[in-house]
Amino acid sequence: MRQALIAGNWKMHKTPSEARAFAAELAREIGRERETEVVVAPPFVSLLPVKEALQGSSIKLAAQDTFWEMEGAFTGEVSPPMLKEVGCHYVIVGHSERRTHFGESDEAVNKKVKALLKVGLRPIICVGERLEQREAGQTFSVVKGQVEGALDGLGAQEVSEVVIAYEPVWAIGTGRTATPQQASEVHAYIRGLLKEAFGEEVAEGVRILYGGSVKPDNIDDLMAEADIDGALVGGASLKVDSFSRIVRFRRSG
Ligand code: PEP
Repeated sequence: MRQALIAGNWKMHKTPSEARAFAAELAREIGRERETEVVVAPPFVSLLPVKEALQGSSIKLAAQDTFWEMEGAFTGEVSPPMLKEVGCHYVIVGHSERRTHFGESDEAVNKKVKALLKVGLRPIICVGERLEQREAGQTFSVVKGQVEGALDGLGAQEVSEVVIAYEPVWAIGTGRTATPQQASEVHAYIRGLLKEAFGEEVAEGVRILYGGSVKPDNIDDLMAEADIDGALVGGASLKVDSFSRIVRFRRSG
């Protein structure tokens, strides 16, 4: 049984003091959640205050990105050991906003994944097609290239530590969600790729999240799909009531 995982990506929102206050509210509201693993990803400068505010709660900390080197002359970058020391468990890599605005390639994502695993951090690897790629019937080939690129050179044991987030780019921040069926067929396809490359046990253990305009009113239907193990939530993770409702999705069956 894969434990459900709901992760909030705060993107470039909230100053450190706002983030601390918000995290304290979240800790009060959903900080005893155990059945679902809850993760929040504030901007780098808010990691420490948020960590302090989450102390004693079950909510875990993630960063939104990392560099792949452990230290050195890389102005402006933040390394995996730094993220580990401030208390991160997870790190998002390959988010479509980073691919689009900062030219992040599959090769860069792969280096980041390897660097994170080296220090015991768990990557949340984002993949997903753009609208024109979906319309051209390229969804599966795009996702295949991104998944294989991100996991290139990894062994089965390492892959069992990663989380994959399927985020169709046309659904991120647009209010346009993939239907549970659209998401589910890509999730099943990704699990099939993992099975082919790393075996059934690994494929069955890796959590595959859906991301793209997840809201309180669509989370229950998405989570009813067998291959959807959780959600990566942007906009709706910025308010306590909407994020809490998503974390407390209704389990079917
Ligand atoms: C995201 O940032 O990963 C995301 C899915 O954003 P939103 O929920 O706002 O679409």
